Amino acid sequence: MTNIIETQSLSKNYGKTCGISSVSLNVGEGDIFGFVGPNGAGKSTFIKLILNLIKPTSGTATVFEKDVFKKSHVIKRSLGYAPSDVRFFPNMTTDQILKNTLRFHRNKNYSRIDTICNRLDLDKNKKFKELSLGNRKKVALATALIHEPKIIILDEPTSGLDPLIQIRLFEMLEEAAKKGATVFLSSHNLAEIRDHCTVTGFIKNGKIINEQRLDTAITNKKIVTITAENLNREILERLNVTIISDNDNSVKFSYTGELSTLIKTVSCIEMSDIIIENNSLAGEYIKYYDDGDKL
Ligand code: ADP
Repeated sequence: MTNIIETQSLSKNYGKTCGISSVSLNVGEGDIFGFVGPNGAGKSTFIKLILNLIKPTSGTATVFEKDVFKKSHVIKRSLGYAPSDVRFFPNMTTDQILKNTLRFHRNKNYSRIDTICNRLDLDKNKKFKELSLGNRKKVALATALIHEPKIIILDEPTSGLDPLIQIRLFEMLEEAAKKGATVFLSSHNLAEIRDHCTVTGFIKNGKIINEQRLDTAITNKKIVTITAENLNREILERLNVTIISDNDNSVKFSYTGELSTLIKTVSCIEMSDIIIENNSLAGEYIKYYDDGDKL
């Protein structure tokens, strides 16, 4: 797989504060990469470096094998970006903003303005200053997608969006990825990363501490909680489960096998409750953040 984003030992210090430290990361063509980490972990710093909005302290970064610090003007032509906090000229309408974006990218496909505004449920004739926070976010997302870029970088794209638009956004990102675009997004929502991303990277205190492909073994994993008096743990051993927590009459475990085998095996337990959830990635996450950091 061709690497579209590649960094080696990329570091950024803000005076004495560490932004990111020696980050080496590869994002492959057609991947949807979900970047996860608590506030202050370094996600925005990494994104700003890739976009050449800030300079690194050390290390290298390339996009399409071009040095992002020397060739960012070329890279930006094939790139779509939406920041987490959105600012545009207050008196411009969405239509004007999107036309400007298309002009910047030398793209004449103006019919996409209506298509994208319909999908994101945006009124293209409203001025930016008249829009709610969520609608402002949608304008930023539209500017990142309108010119069908080969690389799409979104900093917390779903924060502030209503659930329907979140779904539509991921539909659009998945369609773009199918056509070969590469998506890099940061998010606090582990469920959306599990459901829509192909790879995830965990960052903490500026360092990448885990990177994994979200193959079916991870996305098919179930988290099961059984509550029963006199719970016989030997039954669970037959299922080859991984225990997450075990209290007097309640046991929580992860399970990756066939659902029917699980149901058959536990059916002999006299349960007062059973909860079967899709893996939220939270278990994977907490493993790396077990010193009390919160999302
Ligand atoms: P995230 O996006 O994961 O919330 P950031 O990249 O914004 O994290 O921040 C990483 C670290 O760098 C934090 O400790 C933050 O306080 C610090 N930082 C970010 N931007 C600046 C800045 N402009 N000046 C000084 N410190 C900064």
